[in-house]
Amino acid sequence: MIGQFSVLFQVWGLVHFFRVFRVFRGFYSHNPELLRVHLFRVFRGRIAFRIPISGFITATLNSYVSELASRVAALSSYKGRERHLMAEPVILGIDIGGTKSAVLLGAANGEILYRLGEETRANERTPYEILDRLAEMAKEAVRTMGLSLSEVRGVGISCGGPLDSKTGVVYSPPNLPGWQAIPVKAHLEKALGIPVIVENDANATALAEWMFGAGRGANNVVFMTMGTGIGAGLILDGKLYRGTNDLAGELGHQTILINGPLCNCGKRGCLEALASGPSIARLARESMMYGRHKRVLALAGGKPDDITARHVVEAAQEGDPFAIQILDEAGTYMGVGIANVIQTLNPERVILGTIAVHAGELIMEPIRRAVREYAWERAWKVCKILPAELGDRAQDLAAIALVLQ
Ligand SMILES: [Zn+2]
Repeated sequence: MIGQFSVLFQVWGLVHFFRVFRVFRGFYSHNPELLRVHLFRVFRGRIAFRIPISGFITATLNSYVSELASRVAALSSYKGRERHLMAEPVILGIDIGGTKSAVLLGAANGEILYRLGEETRANERTPYEILDRLAEMAKEAVRTMGLSLSEVRGVGISCGGPLDSKTGVVYSPPNLPGWQAIPVKAHLEKALGIPVIVENDANATALAEWMFGAGRGANNVVFMTMGTGIGAGLILDGKLYRGTNDLAGELGHQTILINGPLCNCGKRGCLEALASGPSIARLARESMMYGRHKRVLALAGGKPDDITARHVVEAAQEGDPFAIQILDEAGTYMGVGIANVIQTLNPERVILGTIAVHAGELIMEPIRRAVREYAWERAWKVCKILPAELGDRAQDLAAIALVLQ
C-alpha cells in the first residue's frame, strides 16, 4: 500500500514538474543551461531508482543529471582551486561562427572552465540580437561559475574577417551575411562593462597555436589554414603582426600562377585558387576526362558536383593513385607559397591547419619537397613545417588567447 502511494506520489511529482516546465518553456528554451541546473536541484540523483516511469523519460532525465554532475564536479574542483586561480586571470572567450557560436570561460593555462554553445542562426536574427544573446550567455557563464564580471580580465572575440581590430567593427564576413559595419566591440563593452578585443579568426587561431599548440616556445610563427579558404596569422618577434590596416597575413592571395584559375577575391592564380579545399575538389573534377577518377567519384556518390577535398583525401588514404597525385599537385602549390613566406619572414615554424591535419604526410611531403626546392636552404633548414595541434579546441582557445597575448 505504502509502495503504491509512493509510486503515485512520484508520478504526480513528475506530472507537476512538466506542468511547471510548460509554463517556463519559453524561458528555458533561451536558457538551456539553467534548465539543467534547476532540474538537478529538483531531482539530485533520485531519478535512477525511484521513478518507475517509462525508460525513455528516466534515461533522458538521467542524462541531464549525469551531465550536470560532471559540471558540478568541474565547478567544485574549480572552487577548490579558487585561491590559486585568483592570482591568474579568468577570461571570457566568444567565438562567433557562421553556423555555431560559443561563449566560454578559460584560465591562463588554456584550460576551458566552462562552455556554452548554440547555433548562430545568422539568417533568422539580426546581428544585434545575436550579440545581445551572446552577452546574456556570457553573464550566465560568469554567474554559473560563481564569479562576477569584475573578476573577468577581458573578453576575446574571434570572428571571420574582414574587420578592424582597433575599432572592433566587423565588415560583412562571408559567413555572417548582413553584418555590414557592426560595432561588435562597442556593443559588447556596453553590455558587459569589461574590455573586449575583436580579432579575425585566422589571427586568433595563430595566437592559440603559438601559445598552446604546435608553435609553443617559438618566437616567429606562421599559421596557415587550408580549408574553404587559405587564411593566415603571423607571430613575429613574439607578437601578433597585423600590418598597417589588418591585411597582413593574407597569404592565400599571393600570386602563384600568372593567369591561373580565378580566385574568390577576383584575382587569378592566387594560392587559395590552387590549394584550398574547393580548389582540390576542382582539380579532381577537371582531371576526370582522363578516366582515372573512379574511387573519388564513388566516394562522392557518383556525382561529380558533390566531390569535396574530403573525398580526395579519403581516396588518397586508401592508396588511390589519382587522388594521391591531386594532393601532390595542391601540396606543391602550397609549398611554393610557403617558400615565398619563408624567404620573406624567415620563420621558425610554419603550422598548417585543416586539410594538412586530415591528409597528413600525403600533403605534408609534397609541401616540404617544394619548400626545399624553392626557398633558400639556410632559411628552410631553421624552419619546421608542422600540422596544427589543437584540433577541435582551436576555436575556443583562439578567443582566450586574444586576451592573454
Ligand atoms: Zn585571391
